[in-house]
Amino acid sequence: MAKSTGRHFLQVPGPSPVPERVLRAMAMPVIDHRGPEFARLGEEVLRGCQSVFRTAQPVIIYPASGTGAWEAAIVNTLSPGDRVLMVETGHFATLWRQMAVKWGIDVDFIAGDWRHAADPAAIEDKLRRDAGHAIRAVMVVHNETSTGAISPIAEIRAALDRAGHPALLMVDTISSLGSADYRHDEWRVDVAVSCSQKGLMLPPGLSFVAVSQRALTASRSGRLPRSYWGWDDMLKANAGGYFPYTPSTNLLFGLREALAMLDEEGLETVFARHARLATATRAAVRAWGLEILCQEADHRSPVLTAVVMPDGHDADRFRKIVLDLFDMSLGTGLGKLAGKVFRIGHLGAINELTLMGTLAGVEMGLAAAGVPHRSGGIVAAMEALCPETSSRLHASA
Ligand code: PLP
Repeated sequence: MAKSTGRHFLQVPGPSPVPERVLRAMAMPVIDHRGPEFARLGEEVLRGCQSVFRTAQPVIIYPASGTGAWEAAIVNTLSPGDRVLMVETGHFATLWRQMAVKWGIDVDFIAGDWRHAADPAAIEDKLRRDAGHAIRAVMVVHNETSTGAISPIAEIRAALDRAGHPALLMVDTISSLGSADYRHDEWRVDVAVSCSQKGLMLPPGLSFVAVSQRALTASRSGRLPRSYWGWDDMLKANAGGYFPYTPSTNLLFGLREALAMLDEEGLETVFARHARLATATRAAVRAWGLEILCQEADHRSPVLTAVVMPDGHDADRFRKIVLDLFDMSLGTGLGKLAGKVFRIGHLGAINELTLMGTLAGVEMGLAAAGVPHRSGGIVAAMEALCPETSSRLHASA
């Protein structure tokens, strides 16, 4: 089958498709990053980011991928030998932990099976046992993009409070920001890390750190070396709308447009759309008779669904068939999930019909790849999205 016409379906859980409005906004001449036009742009996007993080505190924008923001969180707040508590929700939690270890941090890693969200009770238990308050930070991935489990950050905040523990709370919102409810100030998160290529509907290349006053205070006594990632110089320059070095000007034009789009739709509507599309995706997976990787119904992600391949079938072979036949990219299994799961991204600039095309590609791909499944996923998704479909189908049967 030819795949030269129509558009590619980029259904990995980030990078997500970039809306044409954002692409057009970036197709501009580069401006002087020390001139007055840039200062207006800088001030506007920094303010817009605060509203997406739901914070009145500073947000820092780096020309970097999300991994850079992970590093910024660590090197600005911690000192060599500091103890932190992390939770093994999946591949990304594991990578963040590896980075912390490389920085000489002593990580207590609560073991997990990559099928569950972080458990607030387990965190509370660890904190209660830490009577001397040696743990400097609790570091959690909000939406674990490798597994499709979303962790309850408000409950984790409450666990810290109940334990009466002063540890900083640091959260990776890389694949949740702009797609799932996240409230930086209300949940009293100290450092939230994010990036451009997921819910913010931008190309990769920008990352974000939202910081609390406590995190800023910790940064003054933290002894890890930092230069490029240092918050002090950045915040000084940001006060005038500028950066201490050359920013990604055109990505910031795109960011301004993406923030406007989120604002026009309204964050609550954006989150409801993601939740609705995730429900429909899960209905399709269940109808196919396949297994959803995340075992907790309450913690299944609105951003992506990881689907377990039946024994004896390789997820990457299936993904290749879908790409070859239908020009659609699905997410690969990461780390120990390689070959065992594929991930359907349903985030960012996506609506009902984009999702239906995606699910049709998956269902046709399952058939083409000879993966055992039942048909009917598409109908189940249609019924989830539009209950009238259900009554009409049954009336005509
Ligand atoms: N954390 C999470 C939850 C992610 O999903 C990713 C990337 O997908 C990262 C961190 C790393 O971000 P980046 O690849 O932009 O460096």
